[in-house]
Amino acid sequence: MIFVHGETRMPRGSMPRQPSRSGRQEGVRRTGRVPSKTAPPTAAGRRPLALPGLKPKAPAPKKKSTAGYDPLNPERIRQIIAGLDQLYPNVTCALNHCSAWELLVATILSAQCTDVRVNMVTPVLFEKYPTVRDFAALEPEQLEPDIRSTGFFRNKSKSVVGAARKIVADFGGKIPETMEELLTLPGVARKTANVVLGTWFKKNEGVVVDTHVTRIARRLELTRQEDAQKIEQDLMQIIPRERWTDFSHQVIWHGRKLCVARGPKCADCALERLCHAADKTWSTVEIHKNAKP
Ligand code: SF4
Repeated sequence: MIFVHGETRMPRGSMPRQPSRSGRQEGVRRTGRVPSKTAPPTAAGRRPLALPGLKPKAPAPKKKSTAGYDPLNPERIRQIIAGLDQLYPNVTCALNHCSAWELLVATILSAQCTDVRVNMVTPVLFEKYPTVRDFAALEPEQLEPDIRSTGFFRNKSKSVVGAARKIVADFGGKIPETMEELLTLPGVARKTANVVLGTWFKKNEGVVVDTHVTRIARRLELTRQEDAQKIEQDLMQIIPRERWTDFSHQVIWHGRKLCVARGPKCADCALERLCHAADKTWSTVEIHKNAKP
């Protein structure tokens, strides 16, 4: 206790602290400035607590020379594959299907459309037309109403009916199992053929390159190309062949879950320390000047 001019005062610092009713910190002067979401570490080196709902800022990237850095170094590729295995251990194609034909149709319908939408359309479609011959007997216009919600339905109807007719006419109603034969079907390019060969027939003939694979392969500096076929060629050079199909599915899932087109969730990404993408939202490594978004 201290006596000052007859008053009794508690010594400085000995008043018991009370929680603030207002939610503001007592004794902190209001400056009118919006508080920083992520204050820098204190002089003592401790990082302040993160505010609820806000992620703490990534630690400052360590300055490190990138001279001699090779994004295609086999050890880096191995670590990327290990990171994908960690994130997506039992991954498979997101398009629901019960046969090679159903997978082929679903893949054709998935162009410029979400897998969720395709998975809503195909059960009704295959209930109505159970076999390849049922599709082959249709006129494209008859199919259009059933697949309208997947977009580009006129072209997709022509592709599906055309593919069915060719499979019946040239392959006895069986889905061909080689890249060369699949590419003769209307509406089937390497992406669709790779999905069917890898997922259904378990043949690693190539890497599926869709919008997710394109974006992530460039972010991870696995390619500098923009053309799907050139990207596929680059990936086939560096990813072991036995991994081509799994790698494709894993990267596609990664593109849906974390490495999304805008605002990738880098703080949750197991590949973060290997990634130097220009549009990372969190980084513990120096971002290369030549890195691509
Ligand atoms: S760190 Fe970010 S940009 Fe790089 S792969 Fe992961 S989510 Fe994508």
